[in-house]
Amino acid sequence: MSNTKFLKLAEVFTYLEKTSSNLAMIDILADFFPQISSQEAKITAYLLRGNLGPSYESLDFGLALKMTVKAIAYSEKIDIKKIENLLQETGDLGLVIEEFKKNKKGKGLSIEEVFKKMIEIAKIGGEGSQEKKIIYLADLLSEVSGIEAKYIIRMILGTLRLGVGEMTFLQGLARAFGKGKEQKEILEYAFNILSDLGEVAFVVSKWGIKKIGEVEPKVGVPIRMMLANRVENLKEVSKHISGNVSVEGKYDGERIQAHIKKNGEISLFSRQHENITHQYPDIIKGLKESFKGKEAIIEGEVVAFDKNENKNLSFQILMSRRRKHKIEEYVQKIPVRYFLFDLLYLNNENYLNKSLKERKFALEKFFKKTKNITFAEYVITDNFLKTENYFNDSIKKGNEGVMVKDFSGIYQAGTRGWLWIKFKKEYEKDLADTFDLVVVGALYGSGRRAKTYGSLLVASYDPETNEYYSFTKVGTGLTDENLAKLPKILDKYKLENKHKLVKTYMNVDVWFEPKIVIEISGAEITVSPVHTVAENKIKTTGKQGGLALRFPKFLRLREKTPEDTTTVKEIYELYKGIKKRN
Ligand code: ATP
Repeated sequence: MSNTKFLKLAEVFTYLEKTSSNLAMIDILADFFPQISSQEAKITAYLLRGNLGPSYESLDFGLALKMTVKAIAYSEKIDIKKIENLLQETGDLGLVIEEFKKNKKGKGLSIEEVFKKMIEIAKIGGEGSQEKKIIYLADLLSEVSGIEAKYIIRMILGTLRLGVGEMTFLQGLARAFGKGKEQKEILEYAFNILSDLGEVAFVVSKWGIKKIGEVEPKVGVPIRMMLANRVENLKEVSKHISGNVSVEGKYDGERIQAHIKKNGEISLFSRQHENITHQYPDIIKGLKESFKGKEAIIEGEVVAFDKNENKNLSFQILMSRRRKHKIEEYVQKIPVRYFLFDLLYLNNENYLNKSLKERKFALEKFFKKTKNITFAEYVITDNFLKTENYFNDSIKKGNEGVMVKDFSGIYQAGTRGWLWIKFKKEYEKDLADTFDLVVVGALYGSGRRAKTYGSLLVASYDPETNEYYSFTKVGTGLTDENLAKLPKILDKYKLENKHKLVKTYMNVDVWFEPKIVIEISGAEITVSPVHTVAENKIKTTGKQGGLALRFPKFLRLREKTPEDTTTVKEIYELYKGIKKRN
């Protein structure tokens, strides 16, 4: 068992930071992982992405900039003013501490020691916790060198920007412990089941690729959710699915994966694997009454509900249930119903590779309807007209559209494939499709928008290249309220220059780290010389440029991660589909 120094990891961080090439990042990771222990591989997986654990139980440091400045003042015995001045100049507290400590040697702490201390700091709670956190952090900083301190500070402030995407990480592991593509697919499968890059790194480094391919779902650990592709026209469904489909209402709520353990404990996870159990005590109670088995993992959509009118309410209303306090009051104010539509695990048996038919059968056998637990409505058919009628009825009932699912299809965790297809009512109007895109830059406004951003440059992520490609510039649809909110949300992620993973030919006034996701609609996809989506696939007789969205309109902010947005591949497929029709 090796005892790798944290300094070595800090050096790896530096190499990663210096490169914008995905292949170079993969090489760096492939070279580093075989040199460290399994436990160190696990910790490295978290720290690389600025986390202290998997997304479903990640800890926060709970230290704001001011407190971190104080800790540096304590550890380095310098005046706060001096730190603040240098911070003004550089805009990066990591660089500030590196400068202050440039001639100091560290004690040579190991990766495990530093990680343990960081966990300790994050876990301090209760009265006087801020002071205590400052003292612990000052203590840690005093034991490390400048370069180590730089990365510790950036992790604490959430400004570590190495740009290692999930797929890049898995490619690195595949190269370290296997030969390449096939092994990456096995690792990706394991990641989809465990939602935890750290655990994947641990298992593969300890027991090898074969073992990681045998992972099974664990009740209490969220499975990455299966996603749907879209069609522009319901008729297109038959190109992708033959035979029976389950046509279901697409409810406008929040997707929740519920885990019911043998001991009766229930956890609820959001689409981003956040543990949101505390928000829905009413659902927990309902599930206890409803479930007739020993243990299960199920999925459904939680929707706000108007008791008097007996109808579903919009997603916006449901969002007022997103709170830390006064939960019980809101349980009464905004009642919800949980529409179950899938079952992934039951009584010690993995259902992921069973057909939807079998999964639904088990779901309906082991759960019964209660006041707030029910099943998503569906019809089984192989007839287009029936699907179309169901869509029209579903819209009348207030749903967003329909989900059409291959009735013999398996559950493809973490995959947006063609076994599930969504069709929304917006798709019926012209193109008017919607896209979830990442904000990477902005232009200042003029006139009424002079003090804020007038338009945003948005990009689409490509998990294969780990890069963000600009797709359009959007200004229309931003209300005064949104315009006022934007700088507050975006300015935390301001950068001096274009982010190293962003590809665009457009220039803007301000660049951002790709973090904030917005939903926009648009009316046409064309080729543009300034945007870059699928540029390598579009043959523009030697000219630069890729796909771009015309007539974009801002719809809303989305609580998604940049890696979970409309991908380059999806946009390209859409473009190809539309071109063929015209
Ligand atoms: P969107 O932004 O369109 O909701 P998404 O990226 O969150 O999409 P998709 O898989 O593309 O996820 O679309 C399916 C989403 O629709 C699910 O994530 C879920 O929240 C919601 N939904 C509503 N009703 C159903 C249903 N019956 N079956 C599956 N998903 C449903």
